[in-house]
Amino acid sequence: MYRFNPQPKPVKPDKKEATRVPQISSQQATRLAKYVMARVLYLKEHPMCEVGSCYKHSNQIHHKKGRAGKLLLDTKWFLACCTKCHRYVEDHPAWAQDSGYSVSRGQKMLGGGLAWGKFIF
Ligand SMILES: [Zn+2]
Repeated sequence: MYRFNPQPKPVKPDKKEATRVPQISSQQATRLAKYVMARVLYLKEHPMCEVGSCYKHSNQIHHKKGRAGKLLLDTKWFLACCTKCHRYVEDHPAWAQDSGYSVSRGQKMLGGGLAWGKFIF
């Protein structure tokens, strides 16, 4: 049954076009592009796995000190390795540190954190 409504239906505003938020910033995209080049060059210069006495072809880069910030592009901390050795290094951090395949970033950060903590507490 029709009921009288004194107010007309509200007019919906035109929908805005959906804008997508980029998944990575342009700065990060540039950084990753530089990394891809550095990675390819490093693997070309180090075609064999550098872990232990492995003689397989290297196809991955292990970042001895992680990939944070400038470490991503610092080839000083790169280690060319095969998939199997890379997995082993990642799964056995204590062994990797003892063998020199990983360097702890935590010690420096822990020292800084404690020094910083003195100011807080
Ligand atoms: Zn290997």
